[in-house]
Amino acid sequence: MRLRDGFILSNKHLLDAVAAEVVVCVKCDLCKGRKKAVPGVGNPESRVLFIGEAPGQSEDLKGEPFVGAAGKFLNTLLSEIGFSRADVFITNVVKCRPPRNRDPRPDEIETCTPYLNRQIGIIQPKLIVTLGNHSTAYVLSKAQLPFHSITQARGKVYETTILGLKVAVFPTFHPAAALYSARYKKQLEEDFQRMKEELLKRGLVSPST
Ligand code: URA
Ligand code: SF4
Repeated sequence: MRLRDGFILSNKHLLDAVAAEVVVCVKCDLCKGRKKAVPGVGNPESRVLFIGEAPGQSEDLKGEPFVGAAGKFLNTLLSEIGFSRADVFITNVVKCRPPRNRDPRPDEIETCTPYLNRQIGIIQPKLIVTLGNHSTAYVLSKAQLPFHSITQARGKVYETTILGLKVAVFPTFHPAAALYSARYKKQLEEDFQRMKEELLKRGLVSPST
């Protein structure tokens, strides 16, 4: 809950307002190929934020992040550490699907990330989990931390400040990586176990789970 201009506004109201702008946004060319923009989903009061890269085909059809094959694996990883999708908030660096799932371009990331920044400002996460290269590069750049590769950055906790908020950033591989590499799958599972310890330490998940 936040007091704004004399009104009490819940995180849900504030996130809904961002989502309402995203679904009609035409600020970059990615709007041309999309079926649905994908603002984000989850518990507006969660202090744990997951950030992926960009919607794929299933997400573009449904308007919801991580609902395809990578999303199924993300659900499994979450359940293994005592979370469901509904407990956390999940979004992406860019909100519309790039053609043929190509990487988002730097100009698209720059144009779209004011939405992500607003979501971060509303949620005020204690832990941000970055999934994959683009998300990690963006969030660490906001923290003015160097980023070389996801392989180097993964599985570590960066206690830092982004957008004026004290936050722990936890990078790991993109769950799609696990779909073609058993090694990445194992490392993702290890990272999520490590993440659980961090969540417990911060009181963000109950010990029974
Ligand atoms: N990959 C992502 O990075 N985000 C999604 O929402 C789906 C797949
Ligand atoms: Fe707007 Fe972002 Fe979609 Fe581009 S990707 S049209 S900036 S919501």
